[in-house]
Amino acid sequence: GETRASELQERALHVLETVFGYPAFRGQQADIVEHVASGGDALVLMPTGGGKSLCYQIPALLRDGVGVVISPLIALMQDQVDALAEVGVRAAFLNSTQTFEETLRIERLVRTGEIDLVYVAPERLMTQRCLDLFESAHISLFAIDEAHCVSQWGHDFRPEYIRLSILHERFPHVPRIALTATADQLTRAEIAQRLQLEEARQFVSSFDRPNIRYSIVEKGNGRKQLLDFISSEHPGDSGIVYCLSRKKVEETAEFLNEHGIRSLPYHAGMDHALRASNQSRFLREENIVMVATIAFGMGIDKPDVRFVCHLDLPKSLEGYYQETGRAGRDGAPSNAWMAYGLQDVVLQRRMIDESEADENFKRVLSSKLDAMLGLCETLSCRRMRLLEYFGERSGPCGNCDTCLMPPVSFDATVPVQKLLSAIYRVDQRFAAGHVIDVLRGAQTERITQWHHDRLTVYGVGADRGEQEWRAIVRQAISLGLVTVDHESYSSLKLTDAARPVLKGEQKVQLRQYQKPVKQKRADRPA
Ligand code: ADP
Ligand code: ZN
Repeated sequence: GETRASELQERALHVLETVFGYPAFRGQQADIVEHVASGGDALVLMPTGGGKSLCYQIPALLRDGVGVVISPLIALMQDQVDALAEVGVRAAFLNSTQTFEETLRIERLVRTGEIDLVYVAPERLMTQRCLDLFESAHISLFAIDEAHCVSQWGHDFRPEYIRLSILHERFPHVPRIALTATADQLTRAEIAQRLQLEEARQFVSSFDRPNIRYSIVEKGNGRKQLLDFISSEHPGDSGIVYCLSRKKVEETAEFLNEHGIRSLPYHAGMDHALRASNQSRFLREENIVMVATIAFGMGIDKPDVRFVCHLDLPKSLEGYYQETGRAGRDGAPSNAWMAYGLQDVVLQRRMIDESEADENFKRVLSSKLDAMLGLCETLSCRRMRLLEYFGERSGPCGNCDTCLMPPVSFDATVPVQKLLSAIYRVDQRFAAGHVIDVLRGAQTERITQWHHDRLTVYGVGADRGEQEWRAIVRQAISLGLVTVDHESYSSLKLTDAARPVLKGEQKVQLRQYQKPVKQKRADRPA
């Protein structure tokens, strides 16, 4: 009844204040805590830094028995347990890093109910020994952290997560709460279905991170642009730079160090000990930049990350959102900056084409990439675009590059027609570089060899620079007018969508190419 509900709310608030030392719940925390504490199942979508932990920690304290937290982040369990011990919560973990004696000790505590929370890795939970242990104990709730790991389409997929549906069957009366910071509509449905949480109440918080400013610039010399960005906007700040390959991570970290920006590399190919030490240095020190592949970051809680940069295009908006979300967890103004160019589009498309995935999976990957490209090429507010993808409606934000400096668009029908004709005239057998050479009337050996200087399209695009043409090619690919054939030397090919443009039946509006401008700041060292 009503009195019990309000009594529960009072007890929850009391725990929040006396145990965790916070005066008030944030966002939907209070509702979630009340729902789970009174035995309901929940699916919680909340951005990184939103405060997901309290959503299961407080119900676990309010309910009788031991709360079980399932998390793939073994490396962070010790920290989480230590942090809880500091505020007087009795917590422990069960994972493969422990000795057998330690395991026995924790198991005994679980059985006797002498602890409040126990963290387990999913592969451990699935063992008969562990399931038996929990059946013989009194369990207050199951919290499934990083629940998006159950999604086969996502980049954090963990096969063991699929088997977590067993919890519903073996512990039908124990409430379950699944939590994640990444979930578009598709992933959300997949989580609910695979974890048998269709009946669970869903709590979807706003994914907006108003303190993060989004900017995406045309890539020229990416490294140099990155250096300019960091030295002008973030001298002395900590940040993360994401690169696609291990080699590029190493090179970029070295380049930044040579130019006086203290940087550490991080990728899965590094020696384990060095990787761990770089991670803990990044967490502890100030004025430090982590240059990393996407292997870095899940569960990383460094509140004062002032910028997250992408030197390569992420594969999806989920990835982009999650990575950029590591900036500004303390709420202070922060930047998400990315340099993006034609090469990125070509490379990402090639990676999909050449992957081992089946056709269905390739289609999913391809549509995720399209959404990412849509964000890069948009003429409207980046934040609106991003939030829309997560199912949230909003207006222009005033805190992204397109809001602050609206891009100029132009009627690009004629140049695009020129491009499409040139691709057609060279028999759709040449890559972007050569097609652009033909358009600009360049004199290269290959042009002479193939007599491409005799084509009617030769030199018809001499009025535009090479970078400008690359931007047009890139947008034509993003719009689906042109594809890159990776089976034959990355040659450009026309799609069916090109026809109405070539025939003049359809106009094309593109983003005006803007030369990368050097950022200036008065106090910048010469
Ligand atoms: P998430 O898991 O969603 O990324 P956390 O649970 O780690 O977020 O919380 C992020 C930060 O916010 C932590 O430092 C946490 O202590 C703090 N926090 C969470 N809830 C509150 C609250 N109600 N009041 C004040 N600080 C909070
Ligand atoms: Zn905006």
